[in-house]
Amino acid sequence: MHADRDEQLTGGPGERLSLGFLPTPVQALPRFSRLFSGPEILVKRDDLTGLAFGGNKTRKLEYLVQDALRSGCDVLVTAGAAQSNHCRQTAAAAAACGLACHLALGGGEPEERNGNLLISTLCGAEVHWCGDDRKGEGAGRVMETLQAAGHRPYFIPYGGSNAIGALGFVAAAHELHAQLREADEHCTHIVIASSSGGTHAGLLVGMRELGAPMQIVGIGIDKDNTVSSGFPGRIAALACETSAQRGAEITFSVDEVLMDDRFLGQGYGIMGEPERKAIRTLAETEGILLDPVYTARAMAGLVAMLEEGVFSAEDRILFWHTGGTPALFPYAGDLLH
Ligand SMILES: *Cc1c(COP(=O)(O)O)cnc(C)c1O
Repeated sequence: MHADRDEQLTGGPGERLSLGFLPTPVQALPRFSRLFSGPEILVKRDDLTGLAFGGNKTRKLEYLVQDALRSGCDVLVTAGAAQSNHCRQTAAAAAACGLACHLALGGGEPEERNGNLLISTLCGAEVHWCGDDRKGEGAGRVMETLQAAGHRPYFIPYGGSNAIGALGFVAAAHELHAQLREADEHCTHIVIASSSGGTHAGLLVGMRELGAPMQIVGIGIDKDNTVSSGFPGRIAALACETSAQRGAEITFSVDEVLMDDRFLGQGYGIMGEPERKAIRTLAETEGILLDPVYTARAMAGLVAMLEEGVFSAEDRILFWHTGGTPALFPYAGDLLH
């Protein structure tokens, strides 16, 4: 049964392009784990997918860009914050595939292009500044303008989180499962930064396909996407759609989506003391860099849970490093104060 699904993965409508260096490594964090005298902590290094500094969006783009090419499109259009990792990886994917790229970004033209924005620019992306709209509200106008000029634009939603993009994390679940089996390793929980939901949804689908008992714990990043605003329900719905995209009909209920949104601080993209501390602690103990917006918040959440004694010493926690490190540079001032 699983072999059939894997065939679909490589041969059917969910065909994937190779954009990243996969599988990404899994490594232990012995010095970091020892700080908490609790469970062993492992890390999955999707910060090393390799596409213009890497990150989790590379996996989604392998399916989305394949779909764009199959549809005969010539421009990728997507949206995000000024320091969007998703937009940076989309710009790089477009360059790698000979496509143009237009980005609808929140905010206005900054004095200096740094971090992700610098890289998107270097990869040739055209930026449209959209003020308060950082989630694609301004992308419709960009699409219309491109169509009127005779282009065939392909729209990728905020974070690449639709049922096609999430296929990348179904495949990632299979990848991790095979790696752990090969290394005679296991883990009981996967902790991820969850923001537009595609990573979380894809992992849920993949782990269910595998019958793997790992619990997937999403740490909320964005005040727009909280438990009380119905984010877990949207993730469950996306997981159902993603499973249908795989030609299966696995259903997911909201109760299966584990989400902790206590660590939102001052909101999306605003780094506080917990994030700063997480970045410095992991860098000082393991030489591994987190990013200020997503993975530092998720790691701060994991640290809080470790200190609360949520996990037992027999648990094995895999922290999924989803990337984002180019944003360290525009946040340098906040990091060092
Ligand atoms: C986009 C992103 C996430 C969140 O993934 P979603 O699929 O949008 O929930 C986490 N970490 C980093 C670094 C990201 O860029």
